[in-house]
Amino acid sequence: MAQTFDITVFEGDGIGPEIMAPTVRLLRQLADRTADYDLRFDTVPAGATHYSETGESLPKASLKSAANADAILLSAMGLPNVRYPDGTEISPQIELRKEFGLFAGVRPVRLVPGQQSPLDLPDGKTVDFVLIRESTEGLFYSQGKGEVSEDEARETLLITRDVSEKLFEFSFNLANSRKDQGRGIGKVTCVDKANVFRAFAFFRDIFDAEAAKHSHLKSDHAYVDATALWMVQKPWDFDVMVTENMFGDILSDLGAGLMGGLGMAPSADIGVKNAVFQPCHGSAPDIAGQGKANPFAMILSAAMMLDWLGAKHNNDAMIQDGKRIRDAIDALVVSRKTLTADLGGKASTTEAANAVVAEILEHA
Ligand code: ATP
Repeated sequence: MAQTFDITVFEGDGIGPEIMAPTVRLLRQLADRTADYDLRFDTVPAGATHYSETGESLPKASLKSAANADAILLSAMGLPNVRYPDGTEISPQIELRKEFGLFAGVRPVRLVPGQQSPLDLPDGKTVDFVLIRESTEGLFYSQGKGEVSEDEARETLLITRDVSEKLFEFSFNLANSRKDQGRGIGKVTCVDKANVFRAFAFFRDIFDAEAAKHSHLKSDHAYVDATALWMVQKPWDFDVMVTENMFGDILSDLGAGLMGGLGMAPSADIGVKNAVFQPCHGSAPDIAGQGKANPFAMILSAAMMLDWLGAKHNNDAMIQDGKRIRDAIDALVVSRKTLTADLGGKASTTEAANAVVAEILEHA
């Protein structure tokens, strides 16, 4: 019997609805082809456009749908010219992170041969690693709480044992499942600055204690500055790397840069019960409504959702469909077929998304 999953969908702002529509269509098509799982979508309002129309950025009913869902699919939210009275941007995605304790920000960095990138990969080398950014504390704990006087400013970094333990357990489990899928050597790298800050020595000790529970996997440490260098010089050496919030914020943009930009960068924010899947890019108001947006980062985020649900609920069909989506997008990028303008092509959003479906059906 098919397992049924409830998915809350936030279409968001700017290009959000344009990239979400073909993504949901693709997910429905995949689910319709199998008897092993079914998806029920609940599309709910939130974001800057909704705020400007109603004065509410994240309605209670939308939050309730998200809280009860098996997974949350979110495109992009926020518009530069729509702000709260205090001047800050509308970003319900950050509220969801806090509300649901989504501590693990998962940012895959993959480069397929032929993909535009500032890197010149040596023959036989591929890049396929995952950066996990702690997303609820670290230096971002201080957000809105910093103290500034005439002569000095202070922000406080917080690292807790509870969140770090969950974060590292998640990281080793991910390395394990990647190893099972033949996608990594089963290694987790703790990225910190333990040579300078006591808080990072504490972070590293908790990492080592978790590593000891996974003796069949490898573990090592790297300082964040050296990591930035190695991500450019030898990115193929990484498998899973895990780091503090601010370091992860910076390194994940470096990772997106290695992939040739934001158009191919998916992400997930995962907690104990809830998980949000969304592209790394924003709402791109400069190209909204023109049918030019690249849907691949959104579609790859949906593939991550299938991976996560499949692993959590022992549903192989979902894991296979996640892989089918990635393989289809890889094939389009390698052949340089039906790509949007940001990837050097001429295709519209709909043409690029339809090409993913056609590619999947061709190999069915
Ligand atoms: P945010 O702060 O909300 O993350 P941002 O200011 O970093 O947003 P984006 O909205 O991500 O900016 O846009 C940055 C640039 O990348 C813009 O020129 C935009 O058009 C382009 N861009 C972003 N996403 C896409 C996409 N899916 N397809 C094509 N171009 C995109």
